[in-house]
Amino acid sequence: FLKLSEGLAKTKDQIVKRIDGLLGSHTVIDEAFWEELEEILIMADVGYEPAAKLMDNLREKVRKRGTTDPAVFKDILREELAEIFRPQKTIKAINPPEVVMMIGVNGVGKTTTIAKLAHRDIMRGKKVLIAAGDTFRAAAIEQLKIWADRVGASFYTKGENADPAAVAFEAMDKALTEGFDVLYLDTAGRLHTKTNLMEELRKIRRVVAKKHTGAPHRSVLVLDATTGQNALSQTKLFNEAAGVDEIILTKLDGTAKGGVVVGIALSFGVPITYVGLGEKMEDLRPFVGQDFAQALLG
Ligand code: GDP
Repeated sequence: FLKLSEGLAKTKDQIVKRIDGLLGSHTVIDEAFWEELEEILIMADVGYEPAAKLMDNLREKVRKRGTTDPAVFKDILREELAEIFRPQKTIKAINPPEVVMMIGVNGVGKTTTIAKLAHRDIMRGKKVLIAAGDTFRAAAIEQLKIWADRVGASFYTKGENADPAAVAFEAMDKALTEGFDVLYLDTAGRLHTKTNLMEELRKIRRVVAKKHTGAPHRSVLVLDATTGQNALSQTKLFNEAAGVDEIILTKLDGTAKGGVVVGIALSFGVPITYVGLGEKMEDLRPFVGQDFAQALLG
């Protein structure tokens, strides 16, 4: 049962130790200092553009303080991270079933994440249905079914090669008539062409929107933290193709690339709601930006 600070140990090593090194080796905040900082941020997978943005914000904050003493820099960085991860507003009440579309590339941990979310809901007494909308791979359906059984969720499938929109349509019927609280709709994770993916996701959206007010209530993008910069480009792609309401970042345990969280928060107006810190159903933590900043900087 990993805590966020433990999951971030490697990222922390990558960022904190280097920043401490930076602060220890400079007596003034000068151009050399900024250059070294930028390198640290890039190495920590914050991403090129987000790092530039972060640098601008930090330079501005340092300028406003009217000091070039590196001793104040950690406070400034902490303040900046607190702004980047300002608490999100709470979600409005939803008439059940809450329909959650799960999107993301194969292998990022989407199946496991659906199971983890379902497990959380079930622990809170909710009745959960999981629908197998990734009909491209029989193995994906099989794997999702195993997880559904394991966490005690109901499962809906039309088998391999079924139309994902038809799966969504029928799963909606089942969720509505059988009084489910939450419906997780898995979707295909193959990125063969962006156009096909976009069409497929839009069709699913249309189908569920017709069946139930406000559906899909959430469109959740699952990203693999260990892929670093790919996570950023996937966010851009899926945001354009399908619209993303929230992001869940998996495999934050054991990666040194946790800096990508900062990059995502800086680049897109999409909140990170949970992080995955392991392979078990309990290994999902709500993401609280303040805690993240705290875990990162101590
Ligand atoms: P999918 O293809 O996106 O559905 O990916 P899966 O859910 O099948 O996960 C791919 C692999 O990543 C599996 O071996 C999972 O156990 C593993 N995995 C998923 N989430 C996490 C996580 O948060 N941490 C770790 N360490 N492994 C994870």
